[in-house]
Amino acid sequence: MNMAQPQPKVQVPDIAAQVTYAMRQMGVSPIPRNYEMFYEAYIGSNPKLTKELAALGSRATQEELDAVGAQYFGRHQTTAVDGAHTKIVKELEGLVTMLRQEHASLESYNKLLGETYSRITSKSSSSADLLHSAISLLSDATGSKMAGGQVTMDGVEAKSREMDDIRKELDEYKKIANTDSLTRLHNRRAFDDRLAAVFDSQFGRNTTALVICDIDHFKKVNDTFGHPVGDKILATVANVIKSNMRKDVFVARTGGEEFAIILENTSIDEATAVAERVRRSLESTPFKNSKTGVNYGPVTLSLGVCIAAEGENPQDLYQKSDVALYSAKSAGRNRTMVFEEGMKKELSKSWLLYKK
Ligand code: GH3
Ligand code: MG
Ligand code: MG
Repeated sequence: MNMAQPQPKVQVPDIAAQVTYAMRQMGVSPIPRNYEMFYEAYIGSNPKLTKELAALGSRATQEELDAVGAQYFGRHQTTAVDGAHTKIVKELEGLVTMLRQEHASLESYNKLLGETYSRITSKSSSSADLLHSAISLLSDATGSKMAGGQVTMDGVEAKSREMDDIRKELDEYKKIANTDSLTRLHNRRAFDDRLAAVFDSQFGRNTTALVICDIDHFKKVNDTFGHPVGDKILATVANVIKSNMRKDVFVARTGGEEFAIILENTSIDEATAVAERVRRSLESTPFKNSKTGVNYGPVTLSLGVCIAAEGENPQDLYQKSDVALYSAKSAGRNRTMVFEEGMKKELSKSWLLYKK
């Protein structure tokens, strides 16, 4: 296919070609971060982004594009982390230089001690001279050593304070990078890390369960009441899930309208009871707009539960919980299902179609 030729939208749903074409028309270099931005603008995931890119007109400079990118793709976070990294490297270099100097001054101290020793042992000196020179040499050397040592200690302390500040900054960025901005829950990245950690140890997999929850017919909610209402509902669902858990339970928003709960020190029956508690709690949560009286609800969840020991690895466990979730969907939604081997065989074909 000739990528340079624009294709009528209705006939050619090839978004990649359309995006590439638009980029060429605007003289934008075909690098991944530009592509990502144009792709999002093209599918219209954020109308403001689409508008801003269009406003740049043809022949936008890379700086202008990056400025838009920084706004919508959180590149400022990466830059901040890069900045912190550079700072740490600089601090470490400073520390190494200081310790080298310290090492050099220790060497001269050693040399001085050596000289003193050779004078003391020299047969030619009288014992009074000898004692006198030994004391003065040692006290000079020790005095300067102590003063030097204090300077080094102060320097090391200042450096370690600075490094501590940088570490705190990095922790803050890490937290932002692992948090879903809409619901304040952990995001997919944090979830993947946590699930991997479950499999890092041999122990605890018999007493850890993964619950995946997916809002029922959420597309219809969006289509009927609009995306902003959908967003508010997502935040409320997140709160309902969280408020039904102990504070230390790991809850994440793993995708658009999908959430995951990792329960530890639990049995499959307890995990199922927790899932049911969440489901019932949401079912009875009112979703009424107090101003307009419009009722957005009921909003319901389908949930799939699987004990970690059933999964061969994190992906397998996730897939098994997902099969259970799909089974809950196909059984009529607004229910909890526990993974069973037979389920997978029975559902695998339609499940694969569903996941497409
Ligand atoms: P099912 O019961 O089978 O899960 O049906 P569904 O409509 O919930 O599932 P489907 O996967 O067809 O649609 C999910 C919808 O979730 C599509 C999209 O509009 C919506 N969605 C995903 N992410 C967001 C978001 O961040 N905000 C809003 N408002 N909607 C979102
Ligand atoms: Mg859904
Ligand atoms: Mg879904």
